[in-house]
Amino acid sequence: MAEHEWMNEIRALVGKEYGRVYAWDKVNAPMIRQWCEVMGVDDARYLSAGTVTAPPAMLQVWCMEGFTQNNYPPGSTTENPYEALKMMEAHGLASVVAVNSELTFKRDVVEGERLYYATRLDTISPEKTTALGTGFFVTLVMTFFSQKPEGDEEVGQLLFRVFKFRAAQAAAPAEKPAMPAPAKRPPPGISDDTRFFWEGAKAGKLLIQRCKSCGTLRHPPGPVCSHCHSFDWDTVESSGRGTVYSFVVMHYPEVPPFDHPNPIALIELEEGTRLISQLVGVKPGEVRIGDAVQVEFNTFNNGELVLPQFRPVAVTPGASA
Ligand code: ZN
Repeated sequence: MAEHEWMNEIRALVGKEYGRVYAWDKVNAPMIRQWCEVMGVDDARYLSAGTVTAPPAMLQVWCMEGFTQNNYPPGSTTENPYEALKMMEAHGLASVVAVNSELTFKRDVVEGERLYYATRLDTISPEKTTALGTGFFVTLVMTFFSQKPEGDEEVGQLLFRVFKFRAAQAAAPAEKPAMPAPAKRPPPGISDDTRFFWEGAKAGKLLIQRCKSCGTLRHPPGPVCSHCHSFDWDTVESSGRGTVYSFVVMHYPEVPPFDHPNPIALIELEEGTRLISQLVGVKPGEVRIGDAVQVEFNTFNNGELVLPQFRPVAVTPGASA
């Protein structure tokens, strides 16, 4: 297939050398120590007193721009070594993905050396089609040097290859239905241990698992009593009365079908067990620990799901706790 004519101008850049980018700082022990700390490197060669050797993998670090983009030390080039990518963008190759990064080293660099690098546009591949789309592999090579009075010395190279491409056409979006189906609540995972709880909710009952051997109540449900290790259990029906033991108000992510902000509480039932549930009928900013609440059973997902939820209730003055 004949190549697009506009590629001629871009291919003419192959082999171009771009100017130097200098390091802000000489190779120095504090940066080495901090880098080693972050990376979890404890090799004594990089951390001992005396002349410190820099870990080879730090090579790229020395000439980085810092927090401010394109803030390079005086004398550094203002040329853009990625100009070939910019030119491809102008022809609709808007996407980019990094595919290779290879560091090679000539020797260690040590404390006190001042480095710079120069970039060469090494190769541009023939047009390729991948699962991502159609475009070109572009390879840049950054060669790092140490400045020396007797002549600068090459210390290593970084090869960096990207795929610059026009994304494969996504399938045409299907026509939207007039009324999108409302999002469903994620259903609970139900096991043999928890089935009674959800079946109870469908019947309008808040059930708590009880050890048949020692009578200890437990929630969340499980196969064995943590008190006496008995596997025998039955259930008791809770009054549904409780208090807010703790709570969070979830603001993000805003996931349908939930309302936001979404108050979620750890409820302590008057029987003594606790469970997590959504609060209803309360403004998220007005939830307080210790609020009295009462269970109610609400139906979701077109009748498929019944959830116990809790609503704050006024406490009758003088009523015993
Ligand atoms: Zn027990």
